[in-house]
Amino acid sequence: MQNGNTNKIWELLNTVPDPEIPVISVVELGVIRDVKFTNNSFLILITPTYSGCPATKTFQDDISSCLKENEITNFELKIKYDPPWTTDWMSDSTKEKLRKYGIAPPSNIVICPQCNSKNTSLISEFGATACKSLFKCIDCLEPFEFFKCI
Ligand SMILES: [Zn+2]
Repeated sequence: MQNGNTNKIWELLNTVPDPEIPVISVVELGVIRDVKFTNNSFLILITPTYSGCPATKTFQDDISSCLKENEITNFELKIKYDPPWTTDWMSDSTKEKLRKYGIAPPSNIVICPQCNSKNTSLISEFGATACKSLFKCIDCLEPFEFFKCI
């Protein structure tokens, strides 16, 4: 049982990595919409990146385990679909982390994360996961994943 310090919850959530992109946290990804404290319980609102994204279940399990490990048991996770998640909720520093990790961040122009070339071509609409597509850089010939804009 924890008191109503939602900052502590945000801090803990910020240590939970995205199941697909471990260099960014679920908070940085922008899926945690709000943390409220009502009736002696934390209400955590989550907006999944894509409806039907298989990672949604993993998010919830990871968040639950993290909170329980920190002896916080009075919480409830609630999925909120409206408004839908958008890549606009990702901060610039998060996009920079993605780029360093080798994934082209969501943007109108697909830029190669290896050499910054804009000369890229789509190989496949779907990469390792549905939220990314596979590109190839025409200049350095490296294939890379692009986090789709939605
Ligand atoms: Zn390149």
